[in-house]
Amino acid sequence: TSSYGIQEALLALGIKPINQGASTGSNWFANGQVIESYSPADGKLIATVKAATVQDYDAAVAKAQEAFKVWRNMPAPKRGEIIRQFGEALRKHKESLGKLVSYEMGKSLQEGYGEVQEMIDICDFALGQSRQLYGLTMHSERPGHRMYEQYHPIGVVGIISAFNFPVAVWSWNTALAWVCGDVCVWKPSEKTPLTAIACQNIIQEVFKNNDIPEGVSCLVIGDAEIGKALANDKRVPLVSATGSTRMGISVAEAVAKRLGKSLLELGGNNAIIITPSADLKMVVPGAVFGAVGTCGQRCTSTRRLIVHEAIYDKVKDALVSAYSQLRIGNPLDSNNHVGPLMDKDAVATYLNALKVAETEGCKVVVAGGVLDNMESDCYVKPAIFEAKNEYNIVQTETFAPILYLIKYSGDVQNAIDLQNNVPQGLSSAIMTNNLREAEAFLAATGSDCGIANVNIGTSGAEIGGAFGGEKETGGGRESGSDAWKVYMRRQTNTINYSDSLPLAQGIKFDF
Ligand code: NAD
Repeated sequence: TSSYGIQEALLALGIKPINQGASTGSNWFANGQVIESYSPADGKLIATVKAATVQDYDAAVAKAQEAFKVWRNMPAPKRGEIIRQFGEALRKHKESLGKLVSYEMGKSLQEGYGEVQEMIDICDFALGQSRQLYGLTMHSERPGHRMYEQYHPIGVVGIISAFNFPVAVWSWNTALAWVCGDVCVWKPSEKTPLTAIACQNIIQEVFKNNDIPEGVSCLVIGDAEIGKALANDKRVPLVSATGSTRMGISVAEAVAKRLGKSLLELGGNNAIIITPSADLKMVVPGAVFGAVGTCGQRCTSTRRLIVHEAIYDKVKDALVSAYSQLRIGNPLDSNNHVGPLMDKDAVATYLNALKVAETEGCKVVVAGGVLDNMESDCYVKPAIFEAKNEYNIVQTETFAPILYLIKYSGDVQNAIDLQNNVPQGLSSAIMTNNLREAEAFLAATGSDCGIANVNIGTSGAEIGGAFGGEKETGGGRESGSDAWKVYMRRQTNTINYSDSLPLAQGIKFDF
């Protein structure tokens, strides 16, 4: 690790080296068990962390509630100024935080930096948003009356995040929630506790410099038990949860039972449709990056290619050739394209999917398997199968680099129907130079996903648009556009400035 400067990065982010005991940090509630964080890059123990107990969790929410009383009274543009400083602090720490993301989670260094850049971008976005928390005004039907609506802070926002975007998802939620006047309690993935602590240390420094109460950002590290406590907690009006569909259903049920609000960002099963007019030199990088980037562990990873029969063999050959040139290895080494899977459980899930795919009838195009003699046991070969869309394995999101090639014939609508015929609805794309096909894909009868792209892959998204998906992806939207509204409560106000009180429906009271 020394050659990649990991120890320096840990120190810069305020995380204790292993031999100095379990890390604890500013405004972080940790009296529970010790969690060990191993790197999938080299299999080494990075550091240990103390997790929260349920009592710690309760204390965190109570502290957040106290902080809310102060924070909600600060004018929104002033809150925006704090977020601007947060963005500046992230710029300063981009290298060390990006490196730690890469080392703790296993994504390539470039993607680690990219994730921190997304955090910086959402801070810029949120700063602008802090002066644009607009409501509408309406013309009243009653004389001498005025109507308008306004948005107020909602309170404590609970954030449950997944391992694969260990820091960006938190910031997408917090940057907006904070300018909206909310306070946040974060339960990160128990697989990536160190990056979470690093983020908490960065924001607490900003708060300290500005006399902002610590409770505006609370961190509770723990497993699903803490997530369940958040979902069931009446003190938390909004729970934003990112992760598997199974987790989302459990959170949605608990939150709905107490009539809270949930924002769900769950699994995807993303396809690229490749039509006969597609520009193949764009198809290959788009599809390959989408399928193998982050080792297939993005919610927007490309899992299916739906290819017209006229160009099917050509696309297949180009993919086989591209896959043979992939460099798999330590993600901190920027010569490598593909890093490891998150952990041994992820490898087991991947291997099982390869087996099931073959039993169901998939044909191997590029064989998968675990790579031997690597720095850890988590490096696998990206695989390609020929498949039918209706196979169970194709209908399932396997969080690993497995790509299914599906042939279609005839009209583009056949491809669109195949692409829509899965339970998930996150990201989708079409590669075409035919205007009619592109518009058919974007029409009401086109893609049913939250994200639909033309001539760019499924993977990733810009923070300026609202991010999220339909069906089993959960329906939530976060990040850009008007996603901020979910973090606020809406109020309609009617003001009577006349000297009479006309009752509705012409009703008269004689007193
Ligand atoms: P996961 O569902 O195993 O865990 C996600 C988080 O939920 C973790 O913090 C975990 O501790 C917590 N959790 C698990 N069960 C819970 C429960 N019953 N109640 C409350 N909290 C619970 O997911 P993962 O393996 O960390 O991440 C991969 C999944 O996340 C994939 O399905 C991927 O598509 C999805 N994801 C979606 C988006 C999106 O924006 N749509 C973004 C990133 C990841």
